[in-house]
Amino acid sequence: MPKVRMQFCPECRRGLDGAKVLGEDDSATPGPGDITLCLYCATVLSFDKDGTLRRATKRDLKKFDREQKQLIARAVVLLKTQHWKRE
Ligand SMILES: [Zn+2]
Repeated sequence: MPKVRMQFCPECRRGLDGAKVLGEDDSATPGPGDITLCLYCATVLSFDKDGTLRRATKRDLKKFDREQKQLIARAVVLLKTQHWKRE
């Protein structure tokens, strides 16, 4: 998983320093406007122009089509159910 600048999730404050770009090769790194999920709390996050993570807004998600939004929602559910099972 490619490393990104160490930051803390704005929701759960856990440290995040890696991001996998889905559908891309393993060396691809996220860019401005890309979204990611916090692996700890499943909050949908967005990368700002300078690479800073913040909570994604409806506006951030506007560019995704219905199918992509469903994938994001499914990933959130999977993360919550799988992660919470481990704790
Ligand atoms: Zn989090």
